[in-house]
Amino acid sequence: MNGDLIVQRPEGLYCPAGDFYIDPWRPVARAVITHAHGDHARMGNGHYLASQKSEGVLRSRLGADIQLQTLAYGETIDHHGVRLSLHPAGHVLGSAQVRLEHGGQVWVASGDYFVSGAEDHNTTCEPFEPVRCHCFITESTFGLPIYRWQPQREVFDDIDRWWQRNADAGRASLLMGYSFGKAQRILAGVDPAIGPIVTHGAVDPLNEAYRAAGVALPATHRVTDLDKAALSRALVIAPPSVQGSAWARRFGDASDAFASGWMQLRGARRRRAVDRGFVLSDHADWPGLQRAIRETGAERVIVTHGYEAIMVRWLQEQGLQAEAFETEYDDERADVEKPAGGDETPEPPSTAAAPQGGSGNLGAARRFPESNE
Ligand SMILES: [Zn+2]
Ligand SMILES: [Zn+2]
Repeated sequence: MNGDLIVQRPEGLYCPAGDFYIDPWRPVARAVITHAHGDHARMGNGHYLASQKSEGVLRSRLGADIQLQTLAYGETIDHHGVRLSLHPAGHVLGSAQVRLEHGGQVWVASGDYFVSGAEDHNTTCEPFEPVRCHCFITESTFGLPIYRWQPQREVFDDIDRWWQRNADAGRASLLMGYSFGKAQRILAGVDPAIGPIVTHGAVDPLNEAYRAAGVALPATHRVTDLDKAALSRALVIAPPSVQGSAWARRFGDASDAFASGWMQLRGARRRRAVDRGFVLSDHADWPGLQRAIRETGAERVIVTHGYEAIMVRWLQEQGLQAEAFETEYDDERADVEKPAGGDETPEPPSTAAAPQGGSGNLGAARRFPESNE
């Protein structure tokens, strides 16, 4: 619409008044970056603007020499008459929602965010902050009624019990999860008294970035630092790409597990072919999405990457003005780990909130978007 603060362009989400993009998927002159996951923060942009807390990870991933300006959460700048500020999204270290104000209109682009129906916070970064706005651009990675996260403490207790049982039986516990965000959530959540914790080399620089930002994580070891006896009691945290690799085989008859929001789907667990699946996500669940949207007070909502059609339909049923933006945040990228078997169909939603028939076509709308979940 004319006068919209953010519109779709082939390069990404664009602010015409300020002449900049948010998380563009093609190189542009000016990019505001919500967070440092690979599908949101891409190389080749002329100038980057991001949160202070994301600087370390952004530079390590995109190059130390990128032209990067940072803002503290809540700090405001004026760009071509557009007031811009960044607000915590609770997704990963440094993740931010982008608030834009121009001509009496306030728009917020969420990026990825974590809010759950169980009212948990992501303790490894600033919790999601609801920001009042006229129009809210929301993600919908887990925008289906079947996605309801149990309290995280229960998930970590499950992980601890699994680890303890393995340690008692003299076998290592190999827990796979995305290196940036998920691995640190696991580290911060488990009980380090059970045994030593080993991290894969892909996880170590991210841990350092978190520690440098003041996030307390337990001591971690490299695999080569421990002898066989210690390894047999260890929790090993590694990215999903190690599954079946020589690196993973060195742990012998380790029990393996996968931590992801997708583990809510029985089929995803089966196809991952791991002993255990722990449902742990850095994205909002269905009640979390609903609450986050409600708390913005927005009368207009634009839905991106995930179950757009289903979310749009549900929002319209709530009397809101809703539409979807096509984005490329679900691109298959080297550092984005999709669950095996992208043709997975979730069990059909069965609650009253579930869309029935009509345009809310499950098959067409359902995709496995990004997997830095
Ligand atoms: Zn993300
Ligand atoms: Zn995303």
